[in-house]
Amino acid sequence: MNVPVVIIGTGLAGYNLAREFRKLDGETPLLLITADDGRSYSKPMLSTGFGKNKEADGLSMAEPGAMAEQLKAEVRTHTRVSGIDAGHKRLWIGEESVHYRDLVLAWGAETVRVPMEGDASDAIFPINDLEDYARFRAAAAGRRRVLILGVGLIGCEFANDLILGGYEVDLVAPCEQVMPTLLPPAAATAVQAGLESLGARFHLGPVLTRLSRVDDGLQAHLSDGEVLHCDLVISAIGLRPRVDLAAAAGLEIGRGVVVDRQLKTSHANIYALGDCAEVDGLNLLYVMPLMSCARALAQTLTGTPTVVKYGPMPVTVKTPVCPLVVSPVPKGLEGVWSVEGQGADIKALCHDAHGNLLGYALTGAAVMDKLALNKVLPSLLA
Ligand SMILES: Cc1cc2nc3c(=O)[nH]c(=O)nc-3n(C[C@H](O)[C@H](O)[C@H](O)COP(=O)(O)OP(=O)(O)OC[C@H]3O[C@@H](n4cnc5c(N)ncnc54)[C@H](O)[C@@H]3O)c2cc1C
Repeated sequence: MNVPVVIIGTGLAGYNLAREFRKLDGETPLLLITADDGRSYSKPMLSTGFGKNKEADGLSMAEPGAMAEQLKAEVRTHTRVSGIDAGHKRLWIGEESVHYRDLVLAWGAETVRVPMEGDASDAIFPINDLEDYARFRAAAAGRRRVLILGVGLIGCEFANDLILGGYEVDLVAPCEQVMPTLLPPAAATAVQAGLESLGARFHLGPVLTRLSRVDDGLQAHLSDGEVLHCDLVISAIGLRPRVDLAAAAGLEIGRGVVVDRQLKTSHANIYALGDCAEVDGLNLLYVMPLMSCARALAQTLTGTPTVVKYGPMPVTVKTPVCPLVVSPVPKGLEGVWSVEGQGADIKALCHDAHGNLLGYALTGAAVMDKLALNKVLPSLLA
């Protein structure tokens, strides 16, 4: 019997790779293994669900059975891979071993957790997949006040969405502005002001040190002495690529699982893409890069070795109160920011010493300029 191509993970990376693979090869056995329920969904929609009043079921696009049929594949759900034996081209699911022709790691990133004092750490919810979202929605039913830890892209998106869904929102983070690694201060100020106009309350500087239950909900103690009252907490303090099993299997690890431009790890017949992969030094936790990787890897797996190329990769942030598009400055490049506009409409551009555009952040009406700017942005992987 033919040994299958095995993909670990049925997020956007795993399912998109399977789709691209099937466009080129209808015959080779394909096995997808996932620790979750295997439903197909678009993860970016998780931070729009309250505004649209969508339950987790409403965000699901297809059941695993339908995906298996569509992809002419086997999809094993609620199945956690526990080890990889690269030398014998097999993986472990507990005691069971599964052989592969080629193995693809598409197992994503996990939410960073911090230990918390107090008796209410179970009221802290990460939201990084559909099942997390379902748990949070169930817990949030009938509640009113949500505290968000983190003011990055995901924290800000949830703030906007929860307010649209009728919740009161406080945000806490140990930094001076929202999205500090993505935005210059003028654009960050515009986004923060937009969210504040909806009622969001920012507590920038301190961290949450203790979370305790009280009669009418939770008491959140911040490191600067402030005490906030809330019913639930969302943790949006960051994601870390899953690397442990790959490291144990002897694969090279950096921030993520290290792969070359053909998405090949340091071991023959093992590839990686999506949030877990560090592609030629870049670990980009967005949809556009993984789509490019899926197309290139499908070619490689079907006999045409293909390197992935990344063009410019601007990110549209879902804060509708203050539209925002940002194209971060590529790693290793240095430039100077210039800012035009005021209030909600900020056009911040970063140029190098020769006048080349390296990146931008556009808010409000300035997002109209993105198409023209995208044409002159540098490619991230040419
Ligand atoms: C709220 C939110 C909003 C976002 N919005 C945007 C946006 O607007 N634009 C954008 O570009 N990006 C956005 N992103 C990021 C984007 O969604 C992710 O980059 C992308 O979905 C990652 O897909 P993935 O398949 O690599 O990982 P995941 O979707 O995390 O999938 C990982 C899969 O691996 C499985 N798995 C893990 N470990 C094991 C194991 N040991 N055994 C078996 N299976 C395992 C999991 O069960 C899962 O099926 C957002 C992210 C979040 C959380």
